[in-house]
Amino acid sequence: PQLANQIAAGEVVERPASVLKELVENCVDAGATKIEIDIERGGSKSMVIRDNGKGIPQQELALALARHATSKVASLEDLESILSFGFRGEALASISSVSRLTLSSRTADASEAWQAYAEGREMAVQVQPTAHPVGTTVEVVDLFFNTPARRRFLRADKTEFTHIEEQLRRIALAQDEVHFSLRHNGKLVRQYRPARNERQKHQRLASICGSAFAERAFSLRCSNDELAMTGFLALDDDRARVSDVQYFYVNGRVVRDKLVNHAVRQALEEAGLSWAAGYVLYLTLDPHEVDVNVHPAKHEVRFHQARYVHDFIQTALQQALAQRPVPED
Ligand code: ADP
Ligand code: MG
Repeated sequence: PQLANQIAAGEVVERPASVLKELVENCVDAGATKIEIDIERGGSKSMVIRDNGKGIPQQELALALARHATSKVASLEDLESILSFGFRGEALASISSVSRLTLSSRTADASEAWQAYAEGREMAVQVQPTAHPVGTTVEVVDLFFNTPARRRFLRADKTEFTHIEEQLRRIALAQDEVHFSLRHNGKLVRQYRPARNERQKHQRLASICGSAFAERAFSLRCSNDELAMTGFLALDDDRARVSDVQYFYVNGRVVRDKLVNHAVRQALEEAGLSWAAGYVLYLTLDPHEVDVNVHPAKHEVRFHQARYVHDFIQTALQQALAQRPVPED
């Protein structure tokens, strides 16, 4: 079972940033409005993620760490088959198979908090009382300590931390109402405050994407019966390059997609603009019309009506470009 978990971990737990993604998404799923992240040494020493979400009941703690349906995978040769299981329900089990992980949690109606950790080759889960407010803390220490080959693949702390920051940006851009803080080696490096009105949203955009982007950003809003898109667009100019900021969300999940890039390029061309554009865009559509995250670690997307979606995006961008505020000198 531990081998199977480690193989599953190899599929998705590539580096500290991928651990962060799984853990922070769990906090969001639990309805947290405040998520505090504490990283030591680029995540290779420790990553602590604390939330004020609904918590995990005592009787479910062990289950949360337990392996799922991985007993069929007996060796590395079976690696292929792990892909068909997908990664769902396996993040905590996988991460705990390649680190020292403890899970502490309390629900609102419980009088006590509980802590769970998996131990030994068989990963028997121990549960004991602890002190913790309502919510959950996951502590991941010594990532890859028992998979030396993978540990050797880790880059310099600074590089790993850069990936962590990028991962957090992607999540935070889709969670306006959640307060995030990020510490590295004890120092507070990022703080994204919840944004409820337009002014706060603009401030949050500046703290996540940088002030150069936020200063140049103009908003976009477009919808029909099937598709809706909102977000921000900003053009490079001779003082700043903002086109490195490119985030596209489909139903709240970040995706990388050729179709989107193409639509942006077409829109700029049609508008007679030779400048490149940065964007943060949120597309929503009927979930049946799209397959997202075919593989959990990639960010692929497949629209059933690709041409239609492409043209919608392009038109929305063209309209926004045509109506953009005239830049001041
Ligand atoms: P998945 O998220 O796909 O269900 P995970 O391994 O990431 O699988 O998590 C297992 C389970 O542990 C979740 O389904 C959830 O019930 C619980 N859990 C994990 N993290 C948290 C958290 N921060 N708050 C509340 N519950 C959590
Ligand atoms: Mg999860």
